[in-house]
Amino acid sequence: MKELTAPTVCLSLEEIQHYAKDRLDEAARFRVENHLLDCALCRAALDAYMANPDETLGADLALLQQQIQKAVPPKKKQMQKIKFNYAAAAVILIIMTAAAVVYWQHTRYDRLYAAFFSAPKAGDVIALRSEQGTPGAAPTFDQAINYYDAGDFSAAIPYFDAYLKGHPDDFQAGLYAGIALLNGGDPEKAIEWLTTASINDPKLFDEANWYLALAFLKQKNPAEAVKILENLSQRAEPVFAGKAKALLERLE
Ligand SMILES: [Zn+2]
Repeated sequence: MKELTAPTVCLSLEEIQHYAKDRLDEAARFRVENHLLDCALCRAALDAYMANPDETLGADLALLQQQIQKAVPPKKKQMQKIKFNYAAAAVILIIMTAAAVVYWQHTRYDRLYAAFFSAPKAGDVIALRSEQGTPGAAPTFDQAINYYDAGDFSAAIPYFDAYLKGHPDDFQAGLYAGIALLNGGDPEKAIEWLTTASINDPKLFDEANWYLALAFLKQKNPAEAVKILENLSQRAEPVFAGKAKALLERLE
């Protein structure tokens, strides 16, 4: 019990960083967690760091650490220490507010993406294949569509890849592969397939461009997304033109 009640030294920036990235050994992690239990300041600093673990905030926290050391020389009286804690709490509040704003901005495009993305059902594609009289002719394609329709986009991707290697001019499959890649967390590769579909098949232009805009949004490239959406919103096709207008309004 003695260790639990003894005051422990505040966490260094390095400790906060390593703890946040789960890089501490067991003993070091125990010390950090033990200290976090009874130090609201370090908990706030950790929260602020985790909300925005980039260099700017790291520098802010390092500055705060210096201020802590300046403000609390080892043998100050209790009163002064309490006074300092208010000041430190105010500094942390400012840092956390700044971090929250940065975090909010940073995730804005992710939130817009989540609000606007929905994967089309692949039923149309399957119907098209049946018309062509080739169901089962491409097992990798069938498997890709099965996973796609079940919403398991990551599982669908390798089957799309395998199928498209043999059928690089199947732009509709390319479009759906692009949508699966977009939702499976690879917007860069999604952009390749969506661009290919958009350039090569006029029937796919609007849908492919809609998902292209979302892919750029996911890549935090709003300028490119806006360019595509502005073009799309002028098109005669009503569905994706309408979606494009709605998303443009949110991006302005
Ligand atoms: Zn502390």
